[in-house]
Amino acid sequence: MVGRLAGKNAIITGAAGGIGLETAILFAKEGANVLLADISEPALEKAVAKVKELVPSAPRLETRKCDVSKEADVQAMIESLDSWGGLDVIFNNAGIMHANDDDAINTPEAIWDLTQNINVKGVWFGCKHAVLALRRNKKTKGSIINTASVVALVGAATPQLAYTASKGAVLALTRELAMVHAREGFRFNSLCPAPLNTPLLQDWLGDDKPKRQRREIHFPTGRFGEAVEQAHAVVFLASDEASFVNGSDFVVDGGMTKAYVTPE
Ligand code: NAD
Repeated sequence: MVGRLAGKNAIITGAAGGIGLETAILFAKEGANVLLADISEPALEKAVAKVKELVPSAPRLETRKCDVSKEADVQAMIESLDSWGGLDVIFNNAGIMHANDDDAINTPEAIWDLTQNINVKGVWFGCKHAVLALRRNKKTKGSIINTASVVALVGAATPQLAYTASKGAVLALTRELAMVHAREGFRFNSLCPAPLNTPLLQDWLGDDKPKRQRREIHFPTGRFGEAVEQAHAVVFLASDEASFVNGSDFVVDGGMTKAYVTPE
């Protein structure tokens, strides 16, 4: 199998959702063996069927139910790849943005805790067991990509404080891990997507046009991003083409975080 990820064993968490599924499709097209992981089994079944349909030549595709906020789930998932020859790439992408997440006054503590448990602790567990697996399998290189968000870089007056704090934590922990493990050949990068056309955001915006326009105006391009545009960046970060890309806040936002006044 030829491809930019040929021979690599990869895990994608949140693989049944927007960014995760598009990434699974591209990983498979590029020759990776892919384990699609998600908390929702029915959604996973649909997702893997789609990957199989679009990439009939995919070398190896499997699914696994995993709640990333539970360390035992994450550990068992990553250890299961030892029988494939060991993990090479993990995309710690599962995350939530809860409908009751709000500002400092109105965010319920339970929503704060739930958000940190999935978005931060889940990423930590993924990184921890990836490092252990890379060492156990005597790998001299590995790529860990963690999904953050542009809200970790710029302030938004549309509050979702628990989510924003969680994504800031992802950036910081990824940067530190990149330094700690650089001499082992393990690269850690954060992906910072802008608001996208995926269920996570679009279900939440619904038919509320003003709420939608409040966000669209900040895009120089005038549109939300597409999940596949994130997936292309993840393929690059996962591949050996990115061998000197480490510790980066990899921003894929159509220029949104560089904008002052956008075109009319
Ligand atoms: P999505 O809701 O389409 O997909 C997220 C997936 O994660 C779902 O399939 C869901 O079942 C799964 N998931 C939720 N909790 C889980 C858990 N505890 N364990 C395992 N899986 C779990 O969302 P998406 O837009 O594809 O988002 C993927 C990542 O990108 C998230 O981390 C999100 O915060 C981030 N992000 C999204 C946007 C956006 O606008 N969509 C922007 C910036 C960052």
